[in-house]
Amino acid sequence: MDNYDEKNIFNKILNKEIKCKEIESDEYTLSFEDINKQAPVHALIIPKNKYKDFSSFSKNASDKEIANFCRSIFSVAKKKGILNNGYRIIINCGPDSNQEVPHLHAHVLGGKNLGPMLC
Ligand code: AMP
Repeated sequence: MDNYDEKNIFNKILNKEIKCKEIESDEYTLSFEDINKQAPVHALIIPKNKYKDFSSFSKNASDKEIANFCRSIFSVAKKKGILNNGYRIIINCGPDSNQEVPHLHAHVLGGKNLGPMLC
């Protein structure tokens, strides 16, 4: 879908060619620890279907997938104990955002004061 690159690392995680530290998983979504943490809590939430970025997901995903993705972000934040102090959700999309992995992912960051939005 939308020139999806099958060789990206998150697709390899979904295909179990590469391991991840799983937080939770359901029919539509997988959540795991980021390998290079930028905060005490740094989780990644990805859809199980093949969407290269947020634009492709918004255009092509079903309402169920979109709702599930959103609820999974909340569920991970809850599981990680960062609901009360707050957290940041980042979705990089496309070249200007410096998105590195071409499979949609939401970063969920927290566990300390995260400072200004952009450095
Ligand atoms: P982005 O720049 O938004 O595409 O973010 C890609 C994220 O994927 C970075 O935060 C990386 O640390 C993370 N990452 C890359 N490879 C892995 C991996 N094998 N397991 C977990 N996180 C990864």
